[in-house]
Amino acid sequence: MTSDIKPLDSFLSFAPPLMGEEEIAEVSETLRSGWLTTGPRTERFEKELAALVGAGQALAVNSCTAALHLGLQVLGLGPGHGVVTTPLTFASTAHVIMYQRARPFFADIDPATGNLSPRAVRRFLEEECLRGGDGLTRHRVTGDIVKAILPVHYGGHPADLAELWETALEWGLDMLEDAAHAIGAAYRGRPLGHSGLKPAAAGHLMSLTAFSFYATKNLATGEGGLLTGPEGDLMERARVLSMYGISDSRRIWGRYAPKGSWVYDVAELGFKYNMMDIQAALGLRQLEKLPRFIAARAAHAALYQRAFAGLEDLVRRPETKAGVDHAWHLYPLRLKPEALTIGRDEFIEELRAHNIGASVLFIPLHYHSFYRAALGYAEGSFPEAENFFKNLVNLPVAPAHSPERVGQAAEIAARLLKKHRR
Ligand SMILES: *Cc1c(COP(=O)(O)O)cnc(C)c1O
Repeated sequence: MTSDIKPLDSFLSFAPPLMGEEEIAEVSETLRSGWLTTGPRTERFEKELAALVGAGQALAVNSCTAALHLGLQVLGLGPGHGVVTTPLTFASTAHVIMYQRARPFFADIDPATGNLSPRAVRRFLEEECLRGGDGLTRHRVTGDIVKAILPVHYGGHPADLAELWETALEWGLDMLEDAAHAIGAAYRGRPLGHSGLKPAAAGHLMSLTAFSFYATKNLATGEGGLLTGPEGDLMERARVLSMYGISDSRRIWGRYAPKGSWVYDVAELGFKYNMMDIQAALGLRQLEKLPRFIAARAAHAALYQRAFAGLEDLVRRPETKAGVDHAWHLYPLRLKPEALTIGRDEFIEELRAHNIGASVLFIPLHYHSFYRAALGYAEGSFPEAENFFKNLVNLPVAPAHSPERVGQAAEIAARLLKKHRR
């Protein structure tokens, strides 16, 4: 590819982690302590996260997928049930519904943010479901009992929780939030996962939030996740299920202590979802840096916003709604194909040729062969999500990058766009 636009001096990768000497030291100490798996560091990590987000309880697990799966388990989701969710997400979000032999029902997104559209959820319920005299919401065709709404806080921008809760209340639905991108984000002044985000009127409905600490996420433990929820039975059951279904799972890691006991009881069919102390060691140190990480992401996003400010004829920039604190896990730029001489895929190739590692998150779930076969949604079913995807370019905002290099990347991207103006 010949170009008069000079590439970056070296490759700007999409989402490298940022680990420092602090993390390395904490892991070393963990290894020397003799506690490799779930132990004191995991417990401390849970306490600090519960305090940070303002949740009654926090359960650290080995992935966000595990947290979502446990969330659905304790919400009682099973065969014959359905969950309303977004197609613009990673496989986990819908896989966990399928694990429970239940059915994901997709509703379209809000193109401003990429988040599940409360209007689309409402339309799905009004047009495709009925609320019976028993208080249950059933799909008119499949007969599935729709139990919950599962929004994803896409890219770290909080979903429209107030509107979603209004609908959840009206239709008697629980809420499980996929906050894989959004540790540190806030909605109307409260961190996601905060127990006060559930409206008082929804007292009888349940609300849980799942976070990811996968290597590329805003806070990384390599693999890792967290489920937050209210203090009480629900979260206690999630804890039991995360450790084989052993009834007093805290005893599991206390059993080798001087006062420990070898006795345990497997009370139900649980999973092996617990977090290791090695992971928690990373998490504890990453947590101290989270405000700085998010500030760096926001500053990187601002550089792109500025670079593309005059190019509204060529691109659509991401929007931030009023009343949210954005965690900027992603910077989703949308191309306007009618205004450009190149397509999205070619643009990504050009970025790569200029040492800029862009990506596309996500390919809508109903485009994947498994979900096409399992759910049978046709292309065209979710026009906003499909359009979002077709024109989408996610640019690197990782805090591992310097503002200088991200600024240069933004300038190069803007010049490439102008060069290809139709
Ligand atoms: C990364 C991701 C997950 C899964 O997180 P893991 O910790 O890898 O299981 C779930 N949902 C979304 C939207 C994600 O991006």
